[in-house]
Amino acid sequence: MSTISQGTPMQDAVQMSLGEVHAAAEAALLGQGFNRAHAAAIANTVTAAEQDECRHHGLFRLPFYMNGLHSGQASPDAEPTIKELAPGIMKVDAKYGFSPLALERGDEPLAAKAKDHGIAALAVNNALNVAALWPEVERLADRGLVGFAFVAASPYVAPAGGTKPLFGTNPMAFAWPRQNKPPLVFDQASSASARGEIQLRLRDGKLLPEGWAIGPDGEPTTDPAQALAGAQLPFGGFKGSNIAMMVELLAGPLLGDALSFEAGERDKANTGAPCGGELIIAIDPVRCVENGNRIAQLEHGEMLFKKMLEQDGARLPSDRRYEARKRTAVEGVKVPRSLYESIQSYITGKRIKERNAYEGDHLTHHKGTGLSAVAV
Ligand code: NDP
Repeated sequence: MSTISQGTPMQDAVQMSLGEVHAAAEAALLGQGFNRAHAAAIANTVTAAEQDECRHHGLFRLPFYMNGLHSGQASPDAEPTIKELAPGIMKVDAKYGFSPLALERGDEPLAAKAKDHGIAALAVNNALNVAALWPEVERLADRGLVGFAFVAASPYVAPAGGTKPLFGTNPMAFAWPRQNKPPLVFDQASSASARGEIQLRLRDGKLLPEGWAIGPDGEPTTDPAQALAGAQLPFGGFKGSNIAMMVELLAGPLLGDALSFEAGERDKANTGAPCGGELIIAIDPVRCVENGNRIAQLEHGEMLFKKMLEQDGARLPSDRRYEARKRTAVEGVKVPRSLYESIQSYITGKRIKERNAYEGDHLTHHKGTGLSAVAV
């Protein structure tokens, strides 16, 4: 570990290897009361995000896991259970634990079912989710399967034409296997930005790009505090709004789980860690065509990627992440000192009662003074 001095966007940062990130995250989660299985699974997720330079789902998220736990809304030790609901549909009940352990437990059975039936779905229920979705679909594609994932969140996003938060930022992810290459993956919110991008800008004192949010008065804003108190906007106007609505239906009513506004109502302690469902679908490509030839199918897909890359300025989704993955394996990552110090406190078992303004969702707005921090 070393201190970064000048010349980086993070003027006061600590350099950590990925091994140190994992060890610190796991120790912090254990120090705050998660059992070993949950601490390891959450640390895997957080480290994967740091590794791919998706910082809003890396160590930055640890306070959300701790707030969920200390509010009593998240279980520290729930053991997920798996059940078959129909020949191609499995359910994993997270029992109010955070999602990473339930997802790890459901992974292998879902892949096996997809290979048996050609297509299979996993309904994850009662899971608190503050993570990115690409790890679950990338794991499916690593097994040669096409993967989709959908999750709702808390009410942050106004439907197109409206001004009040209703939809979650509702991400969906897609993964396509490739021959002798890491899978092609995209993972994107149906809002113009992930909420974490706004929270990071609030923390770092930066303005938002236009088109991301409206304030509590319904007017467009680039102030992250106003945006968190108002509503985020869907990407692409009514088209993104329709996708957000679809994700709500797939992750909520379809699975017998919560819509984002219901998850928001249930988050009594305002932890910003909503509890709800996640739908994951896996398809085995060879079972989709007669006498399937996996290599021919994948090569056909490669033709598309090649044509895309022939155009200057085009890139494949996930190329940035894989580049980051190579870099962070060697160089490690930079962590803001204040976050690093919070993690050290977590490890000692200390409870951090005061929350930063960017943690949580329904923050109080004080005219002229910005958003207040809320206590756990
Ligand atoms: P981004 O807008 O940063 O990126 C979305 C996707 O587009 C990524 O797969 C990215 O690939 C790809 N991409 C970016 N630029 C290009 C380009 N020029 N050409 C082709 N593809 C491109 O992500 P979001 O802000 O929408 O979401 C960030 C994360 O937040 C996601 O991981 C999502 O799961 C998570 N999230 C989680 C929520 C939850 O409740 N659990 C709620 C909302 C979001 P690459 O990674 O290579 O840049």
